[in-house]
Amino acid sequence: MKRRKEPPAPARVLSVHAHPDDQEFTVAGTLAKWARAGSHIVTACITSGEAGSNASTPADMTRERLVKIREEEQRAACRVLGIADVLFLGYEDGVLQPTLALRRDLARVIRRERPDAVVCGDPTVRFYGTRYMNHPDHRVAADVTLDAIFPSAETRFIFPELLAEGLEPHHVREVWLFGSEQADTFVDVAGVLDRKIRALREHRSQMGEWDPAPMIRGWARQQGARRRLRAAEAFRRLVLEE
Ligand SMILES: [Zn+2]
Repeated sequence: MKRRKEPPAPARVLSVHAHPDDQEFTVAGTLAKWARAGSHIVTACITSGEAGSNASTPADMTRERLVKIREEEQRAACRVLGIADVLFLGYEDGVLQPTLALRRDLARVIRRERPDAVVCGDPTVRFYGTRYMNHPDHRVAADVTLDAIFPSAETRFIFPELLAEGLEPHHVREVWLFGSEQADTFVDVAGVLDRKIRALREHRSQMGEWDPAPMIRGWARQQGARRRLRAAEAFRRLVLEE
C-alpha cells in the first residue's frame, strides 16, 4: 500500500452541502484540521434541512421552526470547527432539483468567496453498498456544485448578471469530493476526530439520544486502514488546469 503525501491545507475553502449536518458527518475532521492550519473556510448549505428525518422529528414540530433550529445548529457546528461563515441558500429540503437558478447561486458564492478549493459530494454515487441509496438532494447538490465550478464561475459571459453584480470570474483550482468510490486522497484526522464528533453533536435535533461517536470513529478507522493511518477522511481530489 502506497502512502502518498497529504496535500497542504488550501488557503481559501468553500464547503458545499445539501443539508445541515452533511458536512459534520463527512468532512468535518478535514475542515477542522485546515482551520487550525489557518485556512479561511466558508460553508454553503443549500437547504436548511426542514424536512428533518422521521425518527428525530417530534410530531408537533413545524417546518418553519425546524429551519431556525437547524440553521442555528449548523452555525454552532461551524463554530466548533473554526469555520468563518455559513451561508444558507434557502432551497426546499427533500426536493432539490438541478436548476440553473441553483447553479447561478452557487457560481455567485464561488465568485464572491474566491475559494482555492471546493469541498463537495460525488454526484456519480447512486448506491452505497447494498443497504443505502444516496439521497437525491446529495446527488443534485454535488452535481450542480461541479457545474458551478466549471464552467459557470470561471467563464466571464456565463451568467452575465453576476458580472453586473461586480463579481468577476474565478477559477477554482482544487475540488475535493467526499463520499467517492474512487478516493485517492486521505487526510489524517486522528488529531481532530473529537472535534468532528463535538461538531456533529451540535445537530441536537437530529441526534436525539443517539451517540454518533462509535460510528464516526469506525468510519475514520476504516478509511485510515487504507493508508495505514489511525483515522482518515477519504476524498477524490481533482486539480483543475487553468
Ligand atoms: Zn443530507
